[in-house]
Amino acid sequence: MSLNIDLHSHSRQSDGVLSPADVAARAHANGVDWWALSDHDETSGLNEAAQAAHDLGLGFIPGVEISVTFCGKTVHIVGLHIDPADAALAAGLAEIRRGRFDRAGVVAERLAQCGIDGAYEGAMSHVDNPDLISRVHFARDLLERGHVKSLQQAFDRYLGEGKRAFVPVQWASLEQAVGWIHGAGGKAVIAHPGRYKYTPQQRDALFQVFKDLNGEGIEVVTGSHTPAQYEQYARLALQYGFQASRGSDFHAPGVGRVDLGRMPDLPDGLVPVWRDWI
Ligand code: AMP
Ligand code: MN
Ligand code: MN
Ligand code: MN
Repeated sequence: MSLNIDLHSHSRQSDGVLSPADVAARAHANGVDWWALSDHDETSGLNEAAQAAHDLGLGFIPGVEISVTFCGKTVHIVGLHIDPADAALAAGLAEIRRGRFDRAGVVAERLAQCGIDGAYEGAMSHVDNPDLISRVHFARDLLERGHVKSLQQAFDRYLGEGKRAFVPVQWASLEQAVGWIHGAGGKAVIAHPGRYKYTPQQRDALFQVFKDLNGEGIEVVTGSHTPAQYEQYARLALQYGFQASRGSDFHAPGVGRVDLGRMPDLPDGLVPVWRDWI
């Protein structure tokens, strides 16, 4: 039996719904042996997560998922085995979180133009961590107030790229994100590479620039990938010499394609990103 390793998940410190301790408990209940919490642009849940994992006898790796702009689109870079106390990392993440609040004000203005008032306050009513607001909090408000029938519809109608209340953000650069992660002692991993709407040329540019920055890995098995994509990104990992990661990208019970730990093993022949730690 191989170890069940899940290195991508969210708590209510970003856009998940469970507390860090409750994510730990769910990972443990689902048979996960080693777990990383990787909240968006935020490390404030890691202490609680580490303590809960320790109490459960669950292996824990501190993580973060950093929002990056590359080639005009948002890319997520997961940092694993980071020291959240690192000053440059903490300052960089704080700056990104400030940008999220700037964007939220404009999103609310756009929604008001669509006839939906009070969206800022509505989104804030779903925010647990006063330092972090996400489009997901707007989606939960739109759903709760009956403006949409599902979170997916909130993105399809209003919040998704190019939709009426979509407000582009200039996140961190790839260089900054990888630099912060390395400076904090961690490994950098491109999250769910199959999700980005890049041309093959842009995807290759992302992988090559990331490689040149000494980025370590890509997610191969993630809740965002189809089985065909597991194979596709396994091949690309070998081609570029990247290590491979596995993570559910769990946000909430019953939401998303897979629950914590409920994915297939990495395909054979890959170097797992956790090899130096586990
Ligand atoms: P943000 O980082 O605030 O721009 O929000 C991005 C988050 O929204 C992602 O991490 C997902 O959790 C969620 N998300 C993005 N697109 C969708 C979608 N189409 N349906 C549901 N959730 C989405
Ligand atoms: Mn998310
Ligand atoms: Mn992501
Ligand atoms: Mn994620």
